[in-house]
Amino acid sequence: MTGNELPGVKRSYLIRAGEGQRLTFGGELATVVARNEDTGGLLEVIFLSGGKGATFPLHRHKASHESLYVLDGQLELWIDGKRALLSRNDYANIPAGVIHGYQMQSHRTQVLSWSVGSSLAQMYSLLGEPYPGHVHPESGSSEIAAAFFGKAQANSDVEFVSETIYSSAQTLSPVAMPPKGVEAYVIEAGEGERMIAGSDLFAFLAHQGNTSGQFISVTTLGPPGDRIPDHFHEKHTETFFCFEGKMTMWADGKEISFLPGDFLHVPAGTVHSYRIDAPFTRFMGVLAPGLFEPFFRIMCDPYDGYIFPLEPRPFRFDRVMQRLGELDLKLVGDPRPAPATQR
Ligand code: FE
Repeated sequence: MTGNELPGVKRSYLIRAGEGQRLTFGGELATVVARNEDTGGLLEVIFLSGGKGATFPLHRHKASHESLYVLDGQLELWIDGKRALLSRNDYANIPAGVIHGYQMQSHRTQVLSWSVGSSLAQMYSLLGEPYPGHVHPESGSSEIAAAFFGKAQANSDVEFVSETIYSSAQTLSPVAMPPKGVEAYVIEAGEGERMIAGSDLFAFLAHQGNTSGQFISVTTLGPPGDRIPDHFHEKHTETFFCFEGKMTMWADGKEISFLPGDFLHVPAGTVHSYRIDAPFTRFMGVLAPGLFEPFFRIMCDPYDGYIFPLEPRPFRFDRVMQRLGELDLKLVGDPRPAPATQR
């Protein structure tokens, strides 16, 4: 669980902010925190950071669905012939086959990237060289050497296209809700399909329809609350990212103080739970495959607001209990939820 090492086999593990397998390319730093071998082939997760001007030229992945979430700074994203300027907490959904690339626009831009399908961690290992630092290099060319391109293209799921950047392109407007299907789209910070349970505001950035069922991405905003019931899943892997605030996580019998930048992998079969501890906490779960989507729809009610309410809304865990048999959810110990008034 501890040690910040990638396990190389599917198990529960924690990677603290900044740790992971670090590689540099074109002045950027790729910090790999989950590879296919660590997640049973379900998901890969990579933090990317760089300075102003760091560029990843236009390319596509034949078999990898990629998602990006901006953690710091601004990112100019080129996607499907259009461009979008993404800021902190903006999300981009990039299905397999869609041409995309980016240029970092802030002196420290940091992006969380996760993917399913082939191995993008392998692509970064071919593009980059091991790097001892925990932040992007203080100097260095923003160009990626042609030799590295060739090597990556020949040995991983990346195909560079003839145009390297979009010098001019139509603007892609962000959407407030994920669309129905597998499409390229951008969701602006705070938007998404919002729903509430107790004091916790959940938002789908991607539902199963957007990812061919390969994963769902759900953000949670909340104030301090009770520990959720201990549980495990039999079919899906869960990953947690803390963006701001503070949480306590429990996984595999260990208690973890979970802070911004931290990443936790919880594969099927691992008993886990969490509690929000700070007045404004934001975290994300990426669940792969995406079959747990109905849980959120059963437990939550649709919500129009952008911040959780002062007075908690009903916490309808009773509806979850009624339909427990349909869900990939095994409760451990006393499943009774705390009264909603305490949340
Ligand atoms: Fe869970």
